[in-house]
Amino acid sequence: MINEEVIQRAVALRRRLHRQPELSGRERRTAERIARFVAPLRPDLVLRGLGGHGLAVVFTGPEPGPTVMLRCELDALPIREAGAAGHRSAADGCMHACGHDGHMAILAAVGGGLARTRPRRGRAVLLFQPAEETGRGAAAVLADPRFPDIAPDLVFALHNLPGYPLGRIVLRSGSMCCASTGMVISLHGVTAHAAQPETGRSPARVMARLIDLLHRLPDRLGLDPALSFATVVGARLGADEAFGTAPGEARVLATLRSDRDETLQRMAAFVATSARRLARRHGLGYEIERRDEFAATVNASRAVGLVRRAAGAGRTSVPRRPFPWSEDFGQFTAIAPGALVGLGAGERAAALHDPAYDFPDELVPLGADLLSRLVRLCLE
Ligand SMILES: [Zn+2]
Ligand SMILES: [Zn+2]
Repeated sequence: MINEEVIQRAVALRRRLHRQPELSGRERRTAERIARFVAPLRPDLVLRGLGGHGLAVVFTGPEPGPTVMLRCELDALPIREAGAAGHRSAADGCMHACGHDGHMAILAAVGGGLARTRPRRGRAVLLFQPAEETGRGAAAVLADPRFPDIAPDLVFALHNLPGYPLGRIVLRSGSMCCASTGMVISLHGVTAHAAQPETGRSPARVMARLIDLLHRLPDRLGLDPALSFATVVGARLGADEAFGTAPGEARVLATLRSDRDETLQRMAAFVATSARRLARRHGLGYEIERRDEFAATVNASRAVGLVRRAAGAGRTSVPRRPFPWSEDFGQFTAIAPGALVGLGAGERAAALHDPAYDFPDELVPLGADLLSRLVRLCLE
């Protein structure tokens, strides 16, 4: 158990972080606050400016051994907070709506515990990662030339889960979160007078065909629509309310998801090939771009076993299928065995990314106890 005073300081930190959220890639003050919090804990190594504003805090044991990394996220979202709590966001149009403030507080509390009792062997690395929400931060941290100094043998992250009982530990072996990619398909034709559309080249029909194809993608590729699907997130044709003009330009934006990286690549390739073929057949120019790419988060069964042991009997549940959302933690499970652990945030808690969301403070001791036991189990 982590000492009560450490928990209270971590909860106070959580509320200060909640008041001062910062967007992906701009987490300078958040990182500074974390650095100030951990300095009196006398860690053996602190790396700053990792892949942007990332921060790694290392506690080393007296004996050689493996490196266990715990990762949390620094960033908040461009959402205007609707809650009325005293620690409500002071930054206009920006809030911690995904609970990353709580995840940071949990790691800070784990640090408080490690400061009192170092691991018996090896190293515990607390990684405060930037820019998770844009899917760029994990890759940037991994590409940092100093990352090899802290490369993990085992890696874990925790994410709160509204809709599950408070403190319930939710995880599965294999795919835990889906891979996803944004696709932007731009179509270029020729604008004409709406009275003489035949003199131009409208992308309207190709756009409609593409939207239909995206809806039927699982069907077309013989995939389970619960695990692999596309969501059309935007579409634009011509100028707004230009009744005299037959449009010459169109854009279709979609997010593709799958529980498997290979399947996602197959889906994206099929959409791109179909878009190219349709555009050419209708004499349109085109561009196809990929945005916000996330790898699937794949939990190693050994790492899942360690989490179950740390949690104790009967405290974990196994989701039937992978979560449809994406996490850039998949970048870490691609380089080392690891697990993303879901932690129930309460059945009535507001959903993630909801303007009324607020991380429940009661989860700070629950999450910190679990991760502390896990680190000690890996390094005993
Ligand atoms: Zn989020
Ligand atoms: Zn999140």
